[in-house]
This record gives sequence, C-alpha cells and structure tokens, in this order.
Amino acid sequence: MGREVFRCNAVRDGETLRLELKGDIDEQTDLGALLKHQASSVVIDLSKICRINSAGCHRWVRFLEAMSNGRTLRLSRCSTTFVAQAMMIPNMIARTSVESLYLPYWCERCGEELELLSRTGEDFQQKPKCPRCGDPLTPDSYASSIGVLLNPRSS
Ligand SMILES: [Zn+2]
Repeated sequence: MGREVFRCNAVRDGETLRLELKGDIDEQTDLGALLKHQASSVVIDLSKICRINSAGCHRWVRFLEAMSNGRTLRLSRCSTTFVAQAMMIPNMIARTSVESLYLPYWCERCGEELELLSRTGEDFQQKPKCPRCGDPLTPDSYASSIGVLLNPRSS
C-alpha cells in the first residue's frame, strides 16, 4: 500500500466549521494550514484517516494545542487507526471532546469482521448482532477498554 495523500475538506455549517480529514498523517503532513480557518466551534471528522506514524502523532498533538486556542473542538467518527493511536497516546484527544468513533468487531461463529460507529455516552457493553449470521459480535480486545475510557459510567 502506498502513501495516502493528506487532504482536508472544509464545510461550513452555520457557526460550526466541519473539517473532513483524509489520508495519512506523517512528517510530510501540513496540519498548520488548517489553522487559517476561523470558527469558534470546529468538528473534525477523522473517519478517512489511514495511517499515523510517530512523527504524525507528534504533529497532531501540537496541532490540537494550537487549534484549541479560542475554539471548541469535537472529534467525530474517529477511524480505528486513530483510536488505536489515541489509546497509546492520550494527548491525541486532549482539549477535545470525542463525539463518535469506529470500533472493530468480529463474529466468532462466521468470521465476519466489521467496524461499527459508536457514540460516546452509549453503552459499549451492548453486543451488536452479526449482519451475516445474527450471532452477537465480539469487540476487538481494545474496543472494550476505549469504551470505558470514554464512557466511565458503563464500567
Ligand atoms: Zn456471524
């Protein structure tokens, strides 16, 4: 797999600015360019973020520091790769509130694997059903721990 070029699509929704990010975040990614957008409330959609290397994590954390200055930040539809990094580096979600994220699930019976969007505040202990065979799906090992991290009430 080659490198996925980083792109940002900015959409205005009244007072809120929605930044839809796409591609890889690494040492070549210019996140600073996103700071030119003026808005008091920013939603960052991370569903299309592919890979984030360690240089990318560093850039992301510094970007959040700058971006959160005078702005309310919400992270939406975080991809599984982003979530996996945030589990190791909690600063990846510092100064933000996480609205929703993708968690990996698999079916023990038929082997189906899929990613499901979970909203924070939902009960992560709930087991969704396999779309193929109807058996309850099992969350990937870290999925249950991030659920607890984001929604302490369900633990
Ligand atoms: Zn199944």
